[in-house]
Amino acid sequence: MRLKSLNALITGAAQGIGRSVALAMAREGAGICIADINIDKAGELVEEILKYGVKCIALKIDVSNQESVASAFGSFTKEFERLDILVNNAGITRDSLAIRMKEDDWDLVLDINLKGTFLCSRESIKIMSKQRSGKIINISSVVAFSGNPGQVNYSASKAGVIGMTKTLAKEYAARGIRINAVAPGFIQTAMTDALPEKVKEEMKNAIPLREFGLPEDVANACVFLASKDSDYITGQAIHVNGGMYM
Ligand code: NAP
Repeated sequence: MRLKSLNALITGAAQGIGRSVALAMAREGAGICIADINIDKAGELVEEILKYGVKCIALKIDVSNQESVASAFGSFTKEFERLDILVNNAGITRDSLAIRMKEDDWDLVLDINLKGTFLCSRESIKIMSKQRSGKIINISSVVAFSGNPGQVNYSASKAGVIGMTKTLAKEYAARGIRINAVAPGFIQTAMTDALPEKVKEEMKNAIPLREFGLPEDVANACVFLASKDSDYITGQAIHVNGGMYM
């Protein structure tokens, strides 16, 4: 019960990595807010999480929209007395080679992955500053560090998340807020299931541990960063990638 009596808001938690993070944090005793654009799917997860005996609600949020973010955090503070953990997990891909990339696909990926992380962090920091404590965990990606052909928008957004993590960690350390990132490699979710089998096989061969990660592998790193065990760590990125990038 490493997160007993703490509350966590996790964006994009209706499925995939965010869902695993929500379940893992609930198992450790945290109250959970599943904040997702897909409110129906988020509602289904609430039922599952309530079985752990913790408080759990679902809120509709579009992390790229300032009004939606402000409204979701307003609803959160009516339900929960404190916000101890924010996980900026909502993210999308719109892949293509740079010369063919549509401006709309650039904008959408940057708006959700980078601006969304900023908007949710800003709302959380207002609450956490008053508390003089809090943990923010930003889900970046291995491609922020390694680059990846076909993902100029996505890799730029995730590298931006790393820069934001370090700057906010420096700005708010004095308020007791720790801000770190997790950079997953190839994790088995809907986002990666869509890739052709040949690409998946090539990627597996490029991973020293020779297997894809599971959402639970990312969730374990998030629980560590949310817990007291990581209290002297801020402004860092933990790589969860089977050795794919060192
Ligand atoms: P996923 O299965 O596609 O889940 C993402 C969730 O975010 C979905 O429920 C999605 O709803 C929601 N979402 C999309 N746009 C949103 C918005 N504007 N506001 C709020 N919620 C929104 O993705 P995943 O694979 O679990 O990835 C989670 C995070 O890990 C992302 O940031 C991703 O970039 C990162 N990551 C993933 C991998 C990997 O291998 N899977 C590797 C490195 C990093 P809809 O389905 O309705 O759009």
